[in-house]
Amino acid sequence: MKPCGEDDADAARCSWDVRCSGLARATHNPIRAVVENLHLEPNPGKQLIALSLGDPTVFGNLQPPGELLEAVQSSLESLSYNGYTAGRGSQEAREAVAKYSSTPGSTVDPNDVVLCSGCSGALDICITGVADPGQNILVPRPGFSIYRTLAEGCGIAVRSYDLKPADGWEADLVQMEQQIDKNTALLVVTNPSNPCGSVYSRRHLMDILEVARRNYLPVLADEIYEHMVFPGKEFISMGSLSQDVPILVCSGLAKRFLVPGWRIGWIIIHDRNGILQKEVYGGLQRMSQRTVGCNTLVQGALPAILANTPKDFFVNTIAVLYNNALVAYDILKRVEGLYPVMPEGAMYMMVGIDMIDFPFEDELEFLQQLMREESVFCLPGQCFDYPNYMRLVITVPEDLLKEACHRIADFCARHHKTICTLPT
Ligand SMILES: *Cc1c(COP(=O)(O)O)cnc(C)c1O
Repeated sequence: MKPCGEDDADAARCSWDVRCSGLARATHNPIRAVVENLHLEPNPGKQLIALSLGDPTVFGNLQPPGELLEAVQSSLESLSYNGYTAGRGSQEAREAVAKYSSTPGSTVDPNDVVLCSGCSGALDICITGVADPGQNILVPRPGFSIYRTLAEGCGIAVRSYDLKPADGWEADLVQMEQQIDKNTALLVVTNPSNPCGSVYSRRHLMDILEVARRNYLPVLADEIYEHMVFPGKEFISMGSLSQDVPILVCSGLAKRFLVPGWRIGWIIIHDRNGILQKEVYGGLQRMSQRTVGCNTLVQGALPAILANTPKDFFVNTIAVLYNNALVAYDILKRVEGLYPVMPEGAMYMMVGIDMIDFPFEDELEFLQQLMREESVFCLPGQCFDYPNYMRLVITVPEDLLKEACHRIADFCARHHKTICTLPT
């Protein structure tokens, strides 16, 4: 082994100094960053109830239907899905997704589908496939942190547009438009929303598209919670509304089919005016080739999954989520100092905390103390760039959710500054 010396300037390596890349160094997950700095010690006398994980499988109460398991079993046993597919996915799987994603007014062509490793994989390909380092993307606040994780590592800046809790978490369109400049590459819209549980009306989606159209800005629509909407609400895919604005819709099996671990997602390219034909189609396809495509076994099952999953299964899942949302909302709306926002879909509820009312510095301290006393954990709003809120996951079994909400109510009553017993 050669010692490091002065004359080694051009003999680059003379010792073990192995570093990670700038990309790896700059990649971080805000949820991890916030949660790892919390002191989370549950009360040993109370069962821990974690309302923090956005994974519907953790409690075992929500299971995928038998049709899904049979579809994967057939795929496995056929021995036809052990090899590679094209980077963007097999023809049959893309045809199945195209059919599943078509609406009466908007037919999706299989050539407009790129299969990916989960919806996160789809978002990664869209963001890094369209935006350059030095450019920026617009994301909602409060919003899911993965957009930031994917963009910032690559030197793509993230700008936030505000959502308004009192207006069903609609976007502040004026402030949104003020964020746009010539370096803005994508406008990210999450509908239905994690963490808000909001579902946008056709009118609001049209208004957002109008901002995008005026500014020649393509839209990245994260619709992983597509169709997961509560009674009285309608899910409208942004892709079905576009006349001229190019829209990349990202979705997948994870949430609606309750199998996040299967890692199948997709991009649907909506490009009525052929604006993306010049470069972006090819760009997205080349990006999909970086990992030689996604899980072939589940691709083989995809046509059966998307065609055979009974309607009842979806209806039941929504019924469970809606009931849980009502149960939690009904308890928390009576709590002094808390402002729950009733969700309209997805699997979360945001709850505002009036920090003035409590002897805690911020929601982090509130939630740490809640954990210490009541063994209940919710994610702090800061994980979603939105302090003084907490996010509850409503996929938990009803009795546990009820118990958790009662404990939160007790905790608030104990610590509320202005609730005092009057002398009798
Ligand atoms: C869960 C989630 C995803 C990730 O989905 P995967 O298919 O598991 O990668 C993407 N976007 C939002 C808003 C989510 O909540």
